[in-house]
Amino acid sequence: MAFSDLTGQKNVKSRLASAVSERQSGTFMFTGPVGSGRHAFAEEFAKALMCNEPGPDGACGKCDCCKYFGAGTTPDIMRVYKPSETKNVKVSYIKESVVPEAVLRPQFSKTKVFILDLDYLGTESQNALLKSLEEPPAHVVFILLSSNRDMVLDTVISRATEIKLDPYTNDEIVEIIRKNVPDCPPQTVTIAAANSGGVPGKAIAIAQQGEDTDLKREVAEMFLGIPDATYIKLLNDYAGFMSDHKADAVAVACNILLLIDDLMRLKGVPGYKNIAFTEQRTKLEKLAGSAKTDNVRLGKCAGAVRDFLKALDVNANFDAASSAMLLKIHEELKR
Ligand SMILES: [Zn+2]
Repeated sequence: MAFSDLTGQKNVKSRLASAVSERQSGTFMFTGPVGSGRHAFAEEFAKALMCNEPGPDGACGKCDCCKYFGAGTTPDIMRVYKPSETKNVKVSYIKESVVPEAVLRPQFSKTKVFILDLDYLGTESQNALLKSLEEPPAHVVFILLSSNRDMVLDTVISRATEIKLDPYTNDEIVEIIRKNVPDCPPQTVTIAAANSGGVPGKAIAIAQQGEDTDLKREVAEMFLGIPDATYIKLLNDYAGFMSDHKADAVAVACNILLLIDDLMRLKGVPGYKNIAFTEQRTKLEKLAGSAKTDNVRLGKCAGAVRDFLKALDVNANFDAASSAMLLKIHEELKR
């Protein structure tokens, strides 16, 4: 792996390459939404910093340091990610393990690297790190990650060189989906890319859905029932279905988007062959054929699903968000 193995982020890559070639030490902070690739870039940056012979593309991949890094056996990197049992990393861990470790020399590589996910470091932990971040020894690099800059202390931000991940282009997202979900059908790739908001992690999550055929069938049955449903049915049965599938909410939303996409295709080209929901073709054709179903309305339905996905991201009230989506789709498609 080298920088060129990671898709996109041209500017970020050139900044990292110069940091490596100048042997910069100190603190870097990668910012970008969850799923934007902060961890992947941090790992690749760390590997390049520790490599014996890094080049413009980062780590050489051949030296002993790279080999140990690849095997996960290098002693000179410390990662502080999401803890398994508590919400945040314990302050005592920062004080007793991270801070003392930062003054020790690396055992093997020229540089010792700490990767800390600030999303799991509370105010007290961030404070405990300040001194280390301020005057790191020349052999230490801190790589901080944050998906929410507002949760990072100003005193931490002021000590760090911020590296902001750019939104990915549609082509880059498509490339990332193809790499990570090789069997994903082309139509699902398109839907996943279009609804990812330029965030690779979200695109991959959407692309990995839709293969559960039982769920697919159930979602189709619900969706096709929405236009003729009474409010009671919508808010009891269908909202109940959503609530029962809370754990698979992204998969449910993805399947609804695929159904809407099928309707748009059938509307544009009656008899269109390659729809995703072939089993439900007759019912979809009937719905697509109704005078009220036009592309503007279908676009609004897709918008409602995207709003629902956004609500999931920010942990909004699940039932309220799913009911809002169902009501909006009903309003646009009711007969
Ligand atoms: Zn190397």
